[in-house]
Amino acid sequence: MNTPDSRKIVLVTGASSGIGAATAERLASDGHHVVLAARRTDRLDALTARLTTSGASVESVQLDVVDHDAHRAVVDAIVTEHGRLDVLVANAGVMPLSRLDAGLVDEWRRMVDVNVMGLLNGIAASLPHFTRQGSGHLVTIASIGAHEVPPTSAVYSGTKFAAWAITEGLRVESPAGIRVSTISPGVTESELADSISDPVAREAMVAYRAHAIPASSIAGAVAFSIDQPGDVDVNEIIVRPAAQR
Ligand code: NDP
Repeated sequence: MNTPDSRKIVLVTGASSGIGAATAERLASDGHHVVLAARRTDRLDALTARLTTSGASVESVQLDVVDHDAHRAVVDAIVTEHGRLDVLVANAGVMPLSRLDAGLVDEWRRMVDVNVMGLLNGIAASLPHFTRQGSGHLVTIASIGAHEVPPTSAVYSGTKFAAWAITEGLRVESPAGIRVSTISPGVTESELADSISDPVAREAMVAYRAHAIPASSIAGAVAFSIDQPGDVDVNEIIVRPAAQR
């Protein structure tokens, strides 16, 4: 459990399900103050109520990460309320996998909007505060898809390679007080595959998902990264099912 001195103010995007929800729960139970953000407020309200009942310090806010102004307003409101933002967990993401020859342009655009522009909007909103504070921590939830490109994953992996590169770019451009961590999960239990409309990709996911690990496994990697001393910067962790090849 963190002491009042080590308690951080954390924003988790995509906190309404899966890895984001598990991360919010883990960080709140570790004693941090967690702001849960996503579009589905019914989910956020239910999780926030449950965590509050168990004594956690949490709040929730509706946010579409694609909306730059809305992202900035959410971050600014956190800083106004709490005096600072210590950690942004940029987790919101979508994965409507398909082969390139399926030509699902609208789904490609959606992945670029959420997985790339959503991350950039989070950086644009948070970095001015991190710079003024002289400290801050971006935790990007990328993917094993930031390291490999299986069939049907060309565009999704493209967005996750981009997320990896953008996060690394922030590291090399930033002073020592600003830390960056890329967490790259393998197959993890969540709702992520529900948005796959392409039948070939849906079929391919069935075998993959048989080995899925709990979302709490990824939350543990996030918690490890942010609880390091300020002079220790955990830049990447890959967490995948032991059986995933
Ligand atoms: P889920 O589908 O369970 O969660 C995705 C979250 O992103 C939801 O909370 C959803 O909330 C949110 N989200 C989607 N679009 C937006 C948006 N425009 N604005 C704000 N929030 C949004 O999947 P996961 O938990 O698995 O996904 C979390 C991250 O982990 C993603 O970045 C994903 O790419 C990554 N990942 C997951 C893996 C897995 O196997 N599960 C493997 C590798 C990486 P709402 O719809 O309420 O807005």
